Amino acid sequence: MNKRVLVVEDDVAIGNLIKMTLATQQYEFDIARDGHSALQKALAMNPDVIILDLGLPDIDGVELITKIRSWTQTPIIVVSARGEEHDKINALDAGADDYVTKPFSVEELLARIRVALRRKSFEHQLENESPVFVNGHLQINYMANTVFVNGNEVHLTPIEYKLLVILSKHVGKVLTHNFILKEIWHNALQSDVPSLRVFMATLRKKIENNPANPKLIQTHVRVGYRMLRCHDEE
Ligand code: CA
Repeated sequence: MNKRVLVVEDDVAIGNLIKMTLATQQYEFDIARDGHSALQKALAMNPDVIILDLGLPDIDGVELITKIRSWTQTPIIVVSARGEEHDKINALDAGADDYVTKPFSVEELLARIRVALRRKSFEHQLENESPVFVNGHLQINYMANTVFVNGNEVHLTPIEYKLLVILSKHVGKVLTHNFILKEIWHNALQSDVPSLRVFMATLRKKIENNPANPKLIQTHVRVGYRMLRCHDEE
């Protein structure tokens, strides 16, 4: 069955570009021009992915994400204008999965949609609550608190382990610095971001085949980090 995409975009030109792009890939889609119709359509069509422009005429984009998240975990890819860094981060913290910044390329958008769809199918696996997480050369046993890279056990510090577990539990999703800091230290001070960066560097040395060119964990400059599934190409 074709995957269904709900596009929420009030800009006609960008909306048309997205529609044409989706049509070439055999996605089914519908478009909403404002927040209220977005909510109605999200309920009616039960989409596999939502592409959401943050600047809508009626409802604030971040508020809309909070409303959608009250009943569904459908992946949400936010479209934001350049310079709206803060909105993008708030959108991720409200439950969006990913973002593209205008102007974006069609290929970039399609790649993000594929990642989001794979995350959705992967979530079903996570719901089975398997104690073992496998992603390419990485294996985590949540019960035993052990981590294997290429079949060899690696020893992580408690913070490195927590960091890895948080990223793995949200594989495919961009996690903000804020979110990660809260999960690890139960508070989020921007001043802690440099230390988070240090822990990330030591973690990468232990789990990436080539820490200088990390494949498992992506850096999103000034935003946060994301663990990719090994087959997710960007
Ligand atoms: Ca807009």
